[in-house]
Amino acid sequence: MATIIDGKAFAAKLRENVKKLSDELKASHNITPGLAVVIVGEDPASQVYVRSKGKQATEVGFNSYEHKLPETTSRDELVKLIDDLNADDNVHGILVQLPLPKHIGEEEIINRIDATKDVDGFHIVNSGLLATGGKGFVPCTPLGCTMLLKDHLGDLSGLNAVVVGRSNIVGKPMSSLLLQESCTVTVAHSRTKDLPGVVRGADIVVAAVGRPEMVRGEWIKPGATVIDVGINRIEVEENGETKTRLVGDVHYESAEKVAGAITPVPGGVGPMTIACLLFNTLQSAYRRVGIELSDDRV
Ligand code: NDP
Repeated sequence: MATIIDGKAFAAKLRENVKKLSDELKASHNITPGLAVVIVGEDPASQVYVRSKGKQATEVGFNSYEHKLPETTSRDELVKLIDDLNADDNVHGILVQLPLPKHIGEEEIINRIDATKDVDGFHIVNSGLLATGGKGFVPCTPLGCTMLLKDHLGDLSGLNAVVVGRSNIVGKPMSSLLLQESCTVTVAHSRTKDLPGVVRGADIVVAAVGRPEMVRGEWIKPGATVIDVGINRIEVEENGETKTRLVGDVHYESAEKVAGAITPVPGGVGPMTIACLLFNTLQSAYRRVGIELSDDRV
């Protein structure tokens, strides 16, 4: 049976350290990290995420600024708000919750954020810095996955890593981070031939596909470390009732019998994402005073 990688516990430890370092910054430089979260429209899932981000930011001692705008907000109004937040010294991190309503271009808005405050790490400059090994902001979910992997395995160099999925927010940055850790990286996607065969060569499997339970235990090399990024809500029949259940992109029951270690869903990668958002915001505040935090320090 695989070791369970407890992302919930790791995220709690990370938040504790973020709080400690935030308190230290307040004491030494009178700076309170500030996170501004912008949401446009009424999407219920987005509302939940935004509330959770604001709450956790406050819990670690940050100032949290929530901007809830109506669905009818124009592109110009949103741009004006981003420009104001860019100019506001009390704001160290700006996050625009996606998706945006269809009449507003996401790419333009993301790239309007000052790259030094882009704590989601989606700005084109931060993507470039990650790809070239510079110091920008790394997207929160892949950053969280990398922290879990390093915590569990230590040195990753020389390991074969397969990332299933090539999105800009998970798959691609994940592959850059694993390359930085000197893994031999394969990125698989919907056109990959013989996906089970590709996955079978991996010491590290990161599944970021968005397809419930697609990666099966039979695909996994015995002893491999499996990171399941997927969050899928499926319907199951229980005692004659239809209920919804959260599952990953990995078929947990079969995978845990073969893997050396595995992240559960829920309680694996999910909690790491907001914790890493807080880490990036703290990093931004520390950079104001010329200090670079290492993610090994937290
Ligand atoms: P996207 O839909 O943007 O990307 C999915 C990727 O999977 C694409 O690159 C696609 O390939 C690939 N893919 C789709 N079907 C197959 C297939 N049959 N075989 C191989 N590859 C396939 O998803 P995201 O990257 O945004 O998210 C992935 C998962 O992670 C989702 O379940 C999402 O809910 C979850 N997620 C979780 C987060 C967290 O906090 N834990 C944060 C973000 C996402 P192609 O490019 O060829 O189309």
